[in-house]
Amino acid sequence: MDCKEAEQLVEKYIKGDLEGKQLKNFIAHVKVCRNCFEELEIHYVILEGLQQLESGATIHIGREISGRLLQSERMIRNNYLFHIYYILIQAVAYFLLFLILFLAV
Ligand SMILES: [Zn+2]
Repeated sequence: MDCKEAEQLVEKYIKGDLEGKQLKNFIAHVKVCRNCFEELEIHYVILEGLQQLESGATIHIGREISGRLLQSERMIRNNYLFHIYYILIQAVAYFLLFLILFLAV
């Protein structure tokens, strides 16, 4: 993913509208690209920070974004593990079905 693409996805990410491969590529880019990380910080302040300030809460933008990125990475990893488990369970199910049919004959 290049900077132009990442910048277009910043708002979507903050609103929680990114998922799958797009989310994974966005996180990978923002972690290594200082410019896009700053872009994320600016949009985060505009979209989330102002709301929090209005409610009187103290905000720690850097910490909140880092926490959010970690959370996204965890979600990506969990989805990946779920996918692997799903495939494994299907394979076991087919194997058992095959055994049952084979033994029944
Ligand atoms: Zn970038």
